[in-house]
Amino acid sequence: GEGKQRKPDWIRVKAPLGSAFSETKALMRRLNLATVCEEAACPNIGECWTKKHATVMILGDTCTRACAFCNVKTGMPRAVDPLEPEHVAVAAAELGLEHIVVTSVDRDDLPDGGASQFVKVIEALRRNTPSTTIEILTPDFRNKSQAAVEAIVAARPDVYNHNLETVPRLYPTIRPGARYYASLRLLESVKRQDPTIFTKSGVMVGLGEQRLEVHQVMDDMRSADVDFLTMGQYLQPTPRHASVEEFVTPQAFGAYAAIARAKGFLLVAASPLTRSSYHAGDDFAKMKTA
Ligand code: SF4
Ligand code: SF4
Repeated sequence: GEGKQRKPDWIRVKAPLGSAFSETKALMRRLNLATVCEEAACPNIGECWTKKHATVMILGDTCTRACAFCNVKTGMPRAVDPLEPEHVAVAAAELGLEHIVVTSVDRDDLPDGGASQFVKVIEALRRNTPSTTIEILTPDFRNKSQAAVEAIVAARPDVYNHNLETVPRLYPTIRPGARYYASLRLLESVKRQDPTIFTKSGVMVGLGEQRLEVHQVMDDMRSADVDFLTMGQYLQPTPRHASVEEFVTPQAFGAYAAIARAKGFLLVAASPLTRSSYHAGDDFAKMKTA
């Protein structure tokens, strides 16, 4: 149904400026790459693409799942593009990315859930743009997760990101097909296999969760040794998606951030327009030099 409230004035998005936006778009089309910026209808696209920051979505633009918050289209995906790993590396080079975030749709139809394509992308990036730090944001790989995660971790991304998205109570309506504790275990297993890889996770707020439930999610993440946390306001992409139950104020985000830091996260990004990949490179660079 319709969102319960109008957007408050702190949800302000920046319009794209200058030619960088259209150059980013043209590059992605030429390389046949999908971006989560476009497919998820991210409110930050004007700002990010103007700075030539884009988050690549590999394994196509069609997902085998249909989460209630997500704008990515659902259906039977196309065959995996064997040129995609090289194309991601070309995009990273042409955009001049110091840090790249690579995500994917869920490919429950593939025998390895798409893990081998993540590995190939990491390898192509290491070959072509060795100074670019690599953050991958993966799906949960459902029942293939152990082998999938092992293969990806062995390819040594700098940051392994996997979002819990919301509190466990809301999974049946918001993230059906996913299991909260399976996602938590995935994050834990990355750290167990390679403690030098930073782990990262995020939640959306405004879906009807209680403050204490969010604090519990933070505790769960810390008990799985998650290093970085992102928190942002859920925005309803279309009226067919879950409605916004609350617009969390910037002050409340500030309070969440303070609590998260006290719980020991190395990096915390929490604001209405924070997304998993928002300012990810800047924050990561700052943390490394701190
Ligand atoms: Fe793309 Fe992430 Fe920026 Fe959104 S926040 S436009 S998904 S890079
Ligand atoms: Fe969107 Fe990911 Fe859910 Fe697919 S699995 S619908 S891409 S959030």
